[in-house]
Amino acid sequence: MKQQKTGIVIAAHGRHYLADVDGSHVQCVTRGKKTNVAVGDIVDVTFTSPDQAVIDKIQERRTLLYRSDQYKSKLLAANVTQLFIVVATEPSFSDDLVSRATVAAEAAGIAVRLVLNKVDVTANLEQARTRLKVYAAMGYPVHEVSAKERPDDTVAELAPLLDGQSTILIGQSGMGKSSLINLLVPDADIATREISAKLDTGKHTTTFTRLYHLSGGASVIDSPGFQEFGLYHLSEGMLERAFRDFAPYLGGCKYYNCRHLAEPQCAILDAVGAGKIAPMRHELYGQLLHESAQTLY
Ligand code: GDP
Ligand code: ZN
Repeated sequence: MKQQKTGIVIAAHGRHYLADVDGSHVQCVTRGKKTNVAVGDIVDVTFTSPDQAVIDKIQERRTLLYRSDQYKSKLLAANVTQLFIVVATEPSFSDDLVSRATVAAEAAGIAVRLVLNKVDVTANLEQARTRLKVYAAMGYPVHEVSAKERPDDTVAELAPLLDGQSTILIGQSGMGKSSLINLLVPDADIATREISAKLDTGKHTTTFTRLYHLSGGASVIDSPGFQEFGLYHLSEGMLERAFRDFAPYLGGCKYYNCRHLAEPQCAILDAVGAGKIAPMRHELYGQLLHESAQTLY
C-alpha cells in the first residue's frame, strides 16, 4: 500500500514542487497538467519513491496571492498572513508597485507592513519618509531599518513581528530584500542551494519562490525580483474595497453602482478633491479598473 502524508510546499518551479514532509524535502508533481499549487500550500501527497511524491489534494487555503502574467493571474503564494513591502532610501522606489501590493494584500485579507531600508543613507531619508506618509496615514506600519549598517537593530525591530506568522517579503531589486532575508533567516543561502539542487533548477538559483521555516512554526517566503501582483481576478466591488483609504467614503456616493470615475456626487472623487485620498491612489484605482476590463476580451 502506498504511503499518504501531509506536507507544505516550500518551492515551485514550473510544474515541479518541493514539499517539506515531516522535515524532509520531497520532490512532488501534480496529477495531469495541473499547475494550481502555490508555495505555502498544505498538500496531501502519495509517495512514489522514498523522496518523490504526487500531490493528491490541496488543503483549504487561508489566503491566496496571485502574480501577474500580463492579464492573467497565476498563483504566487498560499496561506500568507502578512506582507512586508521592502523599500529603500535609494534607489528610489515605485509608488505604483507599492500601492498595487497593498491592494493585492487587502483583497486577499493579508496584513501589510512597509519596511524602509537603508536609513543610513541620510541624503534621501526625508524624501522617502515623506513619500511613505501616504501609507502610514492609511494605517500601514512603517519600519525604518538598515540591514547593512545596523543589522542588530534591524533584527530586533523585525524578528518579533515574524512570530506565529507566514510572512512574504517583496521589493524591487536593489532595496535590500536579500540582505534582510539573510538577517532574518539563519542559513537562508544554504537552504536555497539545497532547494535549488533538489528542484533541479540548474544555475537559475534565485528565480523561484521559496519558503523558509523559522523556529516556532513561523515561516518566511522570498519571492524573486518584484513580483507584480495579479489583480485581474478582482471584481469591481472587490477592487474598491481593496483600497483601504476609500473605506470611510464607500457608500456615500449618490449612485449605488458608482464607479468613482466621473460620476456626479461621488464621495470618493470628493475625498480626492478635498485631499483626503491621494490622487496617485485614485489614479491607480482607475488604472486597475481599466486593466480588469481588458481581461474580458
Ligand atoms: P535586493 O536586490 O533587494 O535583494 O537587495 P540586496 O540585498 O542585494 O542589496 C542591494 C544593495 O544594497 C547591496 O549592495 C547591499 O549591500 C546594499 N544594502 C542593503 N541594505 C543596505 C543598507 O541598509 N544600507 C546601505 N547603505 N546599503 C544597503
Ligand atoms: Zn463614487
